[in-house]
Amino acid sequence: AYVINQSCIGTKDASCVEVCPVDCIHPTPNEPGFDETDQLYINPEECIDCDACFEQCPVNAITPDDLVPEKWPDAVERNAAFFQQT
Ligand code: SF4
Repeated sequence: AYVINQSCIGTKDASCVEVCPVDCIHPTPNEPGFDETDQLYINPEECIDCDACFEQCPVNAITPDDLVPEKWPDAVERNAAFFQQT
């Protein structure tokens, strides 16, 4: 699965949300919890590794789960955890 790292915080552009064919990037701009102090997350159970989202991100916050930058060691865990809350 692809994951979104903390580079998203403060930008939260959300252009990735529009291109995801399986709508697995949350929260969307219309959902509770969409505020710029947080970040977007990809549901690892639903992502189909289509590659559509990562090119859209203006801050390069999206990577495959095995290519997360070393500065964000918990990015995989944080994406999964977001969906376990609900
Ligand atoms: Fe959605 Fe494709 Fe990105 Fe996975 S890789 S989050 S399916 S757009």
